[in-house]
Amino acid sequence: MIDAVSQGVFFFWLYFNWFLSSHFMSLNFDLHSHSTVSDGLLSPADLVAYAAKQGVDVLALTDHDDVSGLASAQAAAQAHNIAFINGVEISVTWKKRTLHIVGLNIDPEHAALKAALARVRLAREQRAMQMGEGLAKAGIEQAYQGAKRLAQQSIITRVHFARYLVEQGLVKDIKTVFKKYLVKGKPGFVEHQWMDLQQAVELIIASGGTAVIAHPGRYDLGSVNMLQLLHDFRSYGGVAIEVVTSSHTPPQYQQFAKLAHQFSLKSSRGSDYHGQGVSFMDMGRLADLPSGCVPVWQDWPALQVAPTPA
Ligand SMILES: [Zn+2]
Ligand SMILES: [Zn+2]
Repeated sequence: MIDAVSQGVFFFWLYFNWFLSSHFMSLNFDLHSHSTVSDGLLSPADLVAYAAKQGVDVLALTDHDDVSGLASAQAAAQAHNIAFINGVEISVTWKKRTLHIVGLNIDPEHAALKAALARVRLAREQRAMQMGEGLAKAGIEQAYQGAKRLAQQSIITRVHFARYLVEQGLVKDIKTVFKKYLVKGKPGFVEHQWMDLQQAVELIIASGGTAVIAHPGRYDLGSVNMLQLLHDFRSYGGVAIEVVTSSHTPPQYQQFAKLAHQFSLKSSRGSDYHGQGVSFMDMGRLADLPSGCVPVWQDWPALQVAPTPA
């Protein structure tokens, strides 16, 4: 027979769970964003301020292969009363394709993670020089220097090359630069070996984080490879995939929600915001996760943040 005390504990437990789920559901999570530390336009502190203004309650900064913006973003988050998640977006090579793996709740001071990211950044610089040489052969001079100028002190990415070509009036927009110059078979494309998928997932886990496949709808893998990727990722310890992200269409939300369910993976939600004019969508405007998704934040400790009124 259940005595009154355990019954009371049980009802409190029920109430507490209800409170947690209803509290979390009303929070606006954005678990993928970029600052000037990689290829975003806003400094880490300005990005956080903008997120707060746009009604984001929980923000992860996930710069490419670099964690040096996290400390100032964290401080800004405190000042703006939003919750902050330490993140990173690691470029990996899987079956000769480049994929992005987001790490959430990583430790930015973890030695092995820091060393591995430093190696990736060095390789990225070498790739950028080769891209500049390729574009020069196609008659586009000074592309490396131009991209480097736009990157300022941050890591140099293909987006910086794209912005340079648009800035010079050579191509009308960033999307077209990628299509005409930066993808396989085009003059600015450089075959590059990034970190191994398994190594990236293991490093994220070793540093206390959760590994998430970023924007899976962008890889054009075909269904057989997609199933293989989700299988491999999960077997290495990967936990979640981005279901709602700015480069996915609403039918893709459903498609990846189904795949997450099929592979017992959790679902993440992130804008991949890079700044005004260079993003698919503004911050704070993402759709909710489809019903039935297990949010990647499900087991996170209660976040010290007041939900933004709807
Ligand atoms: Zn990405
Ligand atoms: Zn990104």
